[in-house]
Amino acid sequence: MVQLTVVMNEKNQELENIVSLAKRRGFIYNGSDVYGGLSGTWDYGPLGVALKRNIMNLWWKMFVEDREDMYPVDAAILMNQKVWQASGHTATFTDPLVECSNCHGRFRADKLDNPNKCPTCGSEGTFGEARQFNMMFKTHVGSTEDDTSVSYLRPETAQGIFTNYKNVVDSFYPDLPFGMAQQGKAFRNEISPRDFIFRSREFEQMEIEYFVEPDKWQVSFDALLANIHEYLNALGLPSDKIHELEVPEGDRAHYSKRTIDIEYDFPIGREELLGLAYRTDFDLMNIQNHAGKSMEYTIKGMNTKFVPHVIEPSFGVERSVMAVLSAAYTEDEVNDEKRIVMKFPEHLAPVKYCVSPLVRNKPELVEKARTVYQMLKKKHGNVMWDDNGNIGKRYRRQDEIGTPYCVVIDFETLEDNAVTVRDRDTTEQKRVSISELG
Ligand code: ATP
Repeated sequence: MVQLTVVMNEKNQELENIVSLAKRRGFIYNGSDVYGGLSGTWDYGPLGVALKRNIMNLWWKMFVEDREDMYPVDAAILMNQKVWQASGHTATFTDPLVECSNCHGRFRADKLDNPNKCPTCGSEGTFGEARQFNMMFKTHVGSTEDDTSVSYLRPETAQGIFTNYKNVVDSFYPDLPFGMAQQGKAFRNEISPRDFIFRSREFEQMEIEYFVEPDKWQVSFDALLANIHEYLNALGLPSDKIHELEVPEGDRAHYSKRTIDIEYDFPIGREELLGLAYRTDFDLMNIQNHAGKSMEYTIKGMNTKFVPHVIEPSFGVERSVMAVLSAAYTEDEVNDEKRIVMKFPEHLAPVKYCVSPLVRNKPELVEKARTVYQMLKKKHGNVMWDDNGNIGKRYRRQDEIGTPYCVVIDFETLEDNAVTVRDRDTTEQKRVSISELG
């Protein structure tokens, strides 16, 4: 028990360190911070935007651009309420909610450590029966606020794919199997948003609906699982922290024939990073039945019609960002001095190069450094200029934001057209000719 407490404290400390660095160095801030915040919302600062984009672009490259079988869409966030009635979200997209009769704190019943004890005031036996709380944010479209104008901020991006399945088939007639992919915002009115960006009320998803012939689902399921691992590897996540959880039948959605949750050892413990589910023909059949439009597919040259089955890999962007931040966060010592270094894979680092003149009061050095900076910036975009403080301090700052290379222009540069390039991970410095940079 004592040991468990120690482990928990260390984990909380690790998360605290990441949250504090994320805020201090301009990755992620509390949403609406200046007005006291808005629970479950987060704002990305300059470096956070860059990191998040790099993560999303990597996914886009690996799952969309590099493949021949993927058709991307970007659907509206607001959708006809019938979408959510047909999909079952209006009736069943709920979490069990309990309220403490003493302090009136509200909690998600299935996430309580002790189901009889209020985590806020410590009272025991003060929770009544759990009630089902629908997590969709409701709104009205247009100027009339009645039942017919009700809409919801989408709680998942998947439905924007399913509702466009027929459009894409009609426009492109892709051979089976093929996938449709989408990235975008999703909103869930989580009862207890917590653990930094892990459980937010506004977040982003990257989802694929992969359409297959019913009796060939297993092959595509295995292939997508392998693709998922390739992607997680490219995110730089250590493989011993990634776990496959085969979700048992009783815990799966009723329509799912197989689900694997990919879990990751976050600083908060082992939790779901993404999911892979074989959803049979549940979603397309729902649309066919509710919209009265055929979702059938005919294989070219054959007469048989059928509704394709679907495999869905569903990734959360925030959970990917959190995994990447926690995998990168490192504390080590350089020349007997403690440092914090974010060891991002180079292709994800928000800043790839930092360029500095050795000193800032020598115009000829600054001018030369500006030329190198412009050259690298034109080529790579994500290049930073830093001439504040001494070189040691600049290196520490760049280590904290995970910049792989610091380029310093010194007096020798004016003679030999070479610069010092310092490596973030090894801290080794090399002399490199400007023409060979980048
Ligand atoms: P959980 O059980 O943790 O609530 P879920 O099983 O409801 O998650 P899904 O509906 O399968 O999640 O959503 C797919 C993915 O979207 C999740 O694996 C996760 O990465 C992400 N996601 C879901 N809810 C949130 C949230 N509130 N904040 C951040 N990401 C989320």
